[in-house]
Amino acid sequence: MIINPTRRALLGGATLLVAAPSVLRAQTKVLNLYSSRHYDTDEALYTEFTRQSGITVNRVEAGADQLLARMQSEGASSPADVLVTVDAGRIERASALGLLQPFASEPLASRIPAHLRDPDGNWFAFSTRARVIFVAKDKVADGAISTYEDLADPKWKGKVLIRSSTNIYNQSLTGAILAANGEAKTEAWARGVVANMARPPRGGDTDQIRAAAAGEGDIAVSNTYYFGRLARSEKPEDKAVVEKLRLVFPNQGDRGTHVNISAAGIARHAKNLDAAKAYLEYLATPSAQRYFAWGNSEYPAVSGVEPPPHVAAWGAFKSDQLNARVFARNNAEALKLMDRAGWK
Ligand code: FE
Repeated sequence: MIINPTRRALLGGATLLVAAPSVLRAQTKVLNLYSSRHYDTDEALYTEFTRQSGITVNRVEAGADQLLARMQSEGASSPADVLVTVDAGRIERASALGLLQPFASEPLASRIPAHLRDPDGNWFAFSTRARVIFVAKDKVADGAISTYEDLADPKWKGKVLIRSSTNIYNQSLTGAILAANGEAKTEAWARGVVANMARPPRGGDTDQIRAAAAGEGDIAVSNTYYFGRLARSEKPEDKAVVEKLRLVFPNQGDRGTHVNISAAGIARHAKNLDAAKAYLEYLATPSAQRYFAWGNSEYPAVSGVEPPPHVAAWGAFKSDQLNARVFARNNAEALKLMDRAGWK
């Protein structure tokens, strides 16, 4: 994969190049961003950063596992300045592999809540996504299911739709349950969920939502932004899906709903360190928070920044304050436990 400059930067650079190539080389400031976010709506985020800072953003976009492998094989010569991932498990894996470096930043420490950043400063969350339960309105009474623990209740036999245990969102969710309830209870829970599955796990989060609306099960587990995409869709079939379902924020009576994160950290061998620091601090500014979270129906990490209106419409909720590093580090144990429980 090659490094792709943003379209705007490419055009600007090409113009300057004709005028004075040597000056350009000496003056152009760049940031090499390795990102597993691949939302078209993030485009405005990069453009605005370049406009404010004069720093050109070169992007390498790929799956997180590929990016991590690439940074490992590149070693000290890696051009990566900043790594962005869409799950706590992956950013923490990068940190554990020594691919990141700590950044002590007053603006980040004051703007980003403590549970949404690595206690050692290796990464910071810039948006969150709640992993919630969707129920078929006509089949599940209001309040009949209110916790993740309820997903294992035998009364929901054959009704639960949830994706594979290989999915990192489920590993993080199970990692959070592990932190709350301990190994024995969490393994029993996983067995209960498997026993309640409407079908062997397949597809992504949106597939679980659609299957619940189609009557293949009554209860689906998904991240909020997938529902947000359907809620914003103009397609009648998507509107029909949204109409059929009710969003439940689990565990409002105790620890709160599990939230995962999209996070970023500075690469261990960053060559453009000042640009990397500027970029991370930029991501925590209110305007960047809007681009970062609003484009993909996520919740801004910085408190006081409003979520998008269709997200705000789901209502306020209590989120689990467990540090994302804790459930991220529980991922491996969570997967083993789900394997033992027969969760495909
Ligand atoms: Fe996702």
